[in-house]
Amino acid sequence: QAKADGRNVFRFYHDELNKASIDKFNLLQLMRKALKKREFQLYFQPKLQLAEQRIIGAEALIRWPQPDGSMISPDEFIPLAESSGLIVEIGEWVLQQACLACSRWQQQGYDLTVAVNLSFVQFRDGKLEQQVQQALSAAALPAHALELELTESLLIGEGDNIALQLAAMHQLGIRFSIDDFGTGYSNLGYLRRFNASRLKIDKSFILSLCLSERDEPLVRAIIQMSKSLGLKTVAEGIEDSATAARLALLGCDEGQGFYWAKPLPEGDFLGFVSAELLNETKKTKT
Ligand code: C2E
Ligand code: MG
Ligand code: MG
Ligand code: MG
Repeated sequence: QAKADGRNVFRFYHDELNKASIDKFNLLQLMRKALKKREFQLYFQPKLQLAEQRIIGAEALIRWPQPDGSMISPDEFIPLAESSGLIVEIGEWVLQQACLACSRWQQQGYDLTVAVNLSFVQFRDGKLEQQVQQALSAAALPAHALELELTESLLIGEGDNIALQLAAMHQLGIRFSIDDFGTGYSNLGYLRRFNASRLKIDKSFILSLCLSERDEPLVRAIIQMSKSLGLKTVAEGIEDSATAARLALLGCDEGQGFYWAKPLPEGDFLGFVSAELLNETKKTKT
């Protein structure tokens, strides 16, 4: 009896394991097809300068719409895109589309920047700088309009190789932000080694800023440190006006969050931009 049970247990795990890897395999196939058929979309979330609540640019965030109208979240497919290496091609597409979009904004007279998220895998084959350069020149976009977002773990993980590629891109005039700051490692030495211009405080500290007494000292300390290193501070995950006001008071330079807008398709993003600018004109006229 016990033996039979044991076998059943084994079968159970075996099947579950199989199911998981088949799902991954299917997902990967679907991702390849989506890339080929241009099914991914790039959404844009407005970034604002906090003191005047003036729009300064957008973060580009990938979306994968499904036939039933739902979306698969990047948190669900980016990890598989990374482990399979497909992120190199997806990332190139994101860079191209983000630069083209930003160039269209500039042609419409909006002086905005675009920020693109990078994965550590994109640094592996040494072709990133070339991809970035090509994306910029195909869009006729000046390098200073492009910002690359890198996570702390990326900056610590592969050290020198990544440092050299970042230095080369910095030479081109591209700027870097450190994304999800505060969730990675406690070794801060890398902050000195990379020419980052912005530090983005992770939304886990911002979402509860006005709710929990514990978050404010931490956020205040991060902003102070960022300032003393000569970096601009950005907060992600601002969901209400109280949080926006608090952060401005604490000296945080920039922010993004559902309070202003969720990530939007390009048309809606431009609608947001023109409405904001209209508001500003009204404000300065009265
Ligand atoms: P991230 O780079 O930290 O992007 C910010 C995430 O916070 C986005 O989630 C955004 O929708 C969300 N967010 C912004 N404001 C708020 C807010 O007020 N409240 C809440 N609850 N959330 C807010 P999203 O779009 O689901 O992206 C998740 C992550 O997927 C990104 O985190 C980034 O790490 C990754 N990702 C997205 N697009 C790309 C891409 O093109 N390439 C790569 N390598 N990674 C990407
Ligand atoms: Mg980001
Ligand atoms: Mg982030
Ligand atoms: Mg994040």
